[in-house]
Amino acid sequence: MSEIELRHVDKRYGAISILKDISLDMNNGEFVVLVGPSGCGKSTLLQMIAGLEDISAGEIRIGGKVVNDMPAKERNIAMVFQSYALYPHMKVAENMSFALKLAKTPKAEIRQRVQHAASILGLENLLGRFPRELSGGQRQRVAMGRAIVRDPRAFLFDEPLSNLDAKLRVKMRSEIKKLHKRLGKTTVYVTHDQIEAMTLADKIVVLNEGRIEQVGTPLELYNHPNSVFVASFIGSPEINLVTARVQGNVAIPDNGPALPLPFALPNGREIVYGIRPQHIMIGDQGIAATVTLVEPTGDNQEVSVQAGDVNLYVIANSEHPVSTGDEIKLSVDLDKVLLFDSQDKTRIAMAGM
Ligand code: ADP
Ligand code: MG
Repeated sequence: MSEIELRHVDKRYGAISILKDISLDMNNGEFVVLVGPSGCGKSTLLQMIAGLEDISAGEIRIGGKVVNDMPAKERNIAMVFQSYALYPHMKVAENMSFALKLAKTPKAEIRQRVQHAASILGLENLLGRFPRELSGGQRQRVAMGRAIVRDPRAFLFDEPLSNLDAKLRVKMRSEIKKLHKRLGKTTVYVTHDQIEAMTLADKIVVLNEGRIEQVGTPLELYNHPNSVFVASFIGSPEINLVTARVQGNVAIPDNGPALPLPFALPNGREIVYGIRPQHIMIGDQGIAATVTLVEPTGDNQEVSVQAGDVNLYVIANSEHPVSTGDEIKLSVDLDKVLLFDSQDKTRIAMAGM
């Protein structure tokens, strides 16, 4: 039995279908990340788990119990929002203890739980401050503290880091990961940021227009995406995708270079050829191309190249630097090539695999 189970869950607003046939298992202690573009239904799904939105069809079970009609406050799940939603007129300690007070928890226990959460989050010295006297990262910590004091059976996070600057986002990301390791609670985390998904998740759920596109570990999705959508959503910089036609042991795009195939396919078949920027090498032989742009990132150069009408993005090691206008040769790591059907955009696996 999984901790949170969704079975054929639908969500409609009037005639508009927002979530379609969502079935998903979230195991006890697992860190599950729901990722997908803005508007694909992530927040709606999280709110349905929390009980803040009802569901139009299907079943949600928490700890084996159907909760379709159970109010949010009985589900024992804590949610942390992007907006933090702190009470501005309450000090940090009061913000953190408010839910416990409502639940008539004894005063001594409230004090002890707030102290415990504050020490986990490094908030001990801030308990007497108002939210306006805190930085963004500190406010986010208070919002997490408010969730922790309730000792819920699961944590739900809705884009909790999107209001922070890039540096703080990275720091808070690792704090959330440490917190999860320490508390060991089932966590469902929503983000549109694939790097957050890759770094935090035990299990990533990719949503696309209200449907589950693929579920897997970060590496499964990176190495074995089932579709063009997942291949281009996961991985940074984005995978190169080139429409091409099979001819012998290569695929040839319109006015483009011959791209080596990792396995045989019927002659004439139109495919989408996928290769990540990390898996193209600049060397002495292979595909002739011209460098059109170089973006140094320190150890690496991110290089845009053109071969005929085909543009490719390549991550090259800065030890062998290239410059705009250089004529170079490219080879691809054949083991890493991903091929997709050009019509339905699903991945083509090697026959017998
Ligand atoms: P995400 O969090 O992935 O950005 P949301 O779950 O917020 O997406 O929204 C999914 C879709 O549902 C969007 O197209 C949004 O416009 C629509 N939606 C959300 N809430 C309502 C509502 N109360 N009534 C009608 N449509 C809604
Ligand atoms: Mg959202």
